[in-house]
Amino acid sequence: MKKIIVIPGDGIGQEITASAVEVLKKVDAKFGIGLEYDYRDAGGTSYEKFGTPLTDEALDACKKADGVLFGAVGGKKWDSLPVYLRPERAIFGLRKGLGLFANLRPTKVYPELINSSPLKPELVGGSDLLIVRELVGGIYFGPRCESETKDGVEQAWDTEIYSVPEIERITKLAFETAKLRRGKVTSVDKANVLAASRLWRKVVVDVAKNYPDVELNHLYVDNAAMQLVLNPKQFDVIVTNNIFGDILSDEAAVIGGSIGLMPSASIGELTSLYEPIHGSAPDIAGKDIANPMGTILSAAMLLRYSLKEEAAAKAVETAIDKTLADGWRTADIFTDGFKRVGTAQVTEIICGNL
Ligand code: NAD
Repeated sequence: MKKIIVIPGDGIGQEITASAVEVLKKVDAKFGIGLEYDYRDAGGTSYEKFGTPLTDEALDACKKADGVLFGAVGGKKWDSLPVYLRPERAIFGLRKGLGLFANLRPTKVYPELINSSPLKPELVGGSDLLIVRELVGGIYFGPRCESETKDGVEQAWDTEIYSVPEIERITKLAFETAKLRRGKVTSVDKANVLAASRLWRKVVVDVAKNYPDVELNHLYVDNAAMQLVLNPKQFDVIVTNNIFGDILSDEAAVIGGSIGLMPSASIGELTSLYEPIHGSAPDIAGKDIANPMGTILSAAMLLRYSLKEEAAAKAVETAIDKTLADGWRTADIFTDGFKRVGTAQVTEIICGNL
């Protein structure tokens, strides 16, 4: 049996993970994977029960699992808590505890939703890219100084450090991922200015020698930011460091046009975690109107990357494609002329399409 830890979290996290588990059960019945589910709390829900956003027991369960399906955490109710007790700390705790070193964010423009994109249809149509972001190194984790005085002037600084093994690890993952896709990697850096980026580029070039079937090119981050809106179709896999990935993945996320449809994977050495990119949407929680597709597509990534069940992952993605092609829309992506459905009903339709 393969054990999945399900962490619904707060707000719509409860509804959307329930939908994703329903879809996983259906796909399991079809492909005979043998999935079992174990539920844990995180975020505000965990704080209410245990006085902490993430218990050691929940983290330990995740460490032993074959994959973690995460909903979302957060809500106004807990906004005034001290930082270490706030729901979002659960995410940092899981990242650190599971050693989640890479974040994978696909952006796909669905033909049926092309008009939801802020970009012109002829520019974005057919875009299907994946950003592989280094998640535990670089300037977000380097030595820093909040304030010091030099020559009578206050200053602050942060440091970008990358080691060869850190770059090798993320680059290998990007190339392995590209092999599952269209076989192209774009490495994004700022090698014309930054020393850490020059090492980044050198290591990427070295790793690429082991992947002769994968095409590699390099872009400076300023150009990459432009190319993402000028011609997103040119990209397959983008690999980049923590800070550039943070910025570019949010830029890429809007290209698709709907936050409710965007999945993500955070890859660890042992266990990986899968979650939609949106938050807990307290404004719509409990109303049966949340779009569960981002979470269902995250479950498809779990099937692909943690369980190596490519056919099952594809089946889930195809079922979502068909649901959209048939005109079914949750409130967030509804426009005139389509069929409006709630969370539970769209989940049933997706299951029916499997
Ligand atoms: P949000 O992503 O929760 O919501 C932004 C807007 O998008 C809202 O109008 C919401 O209704 C809508 N939306 C989001 N997901 C949707 C879905 N699946 N279907 C339909 N509509 C959807 O961002 P926010 O409002 O800035 O944050 C709410 C809470 O979530 C905050 O406490 C924040 O800290 C937390 N948060 C958590 C995560 C996470 O758990 N990974 C990520 C971002 C924000």
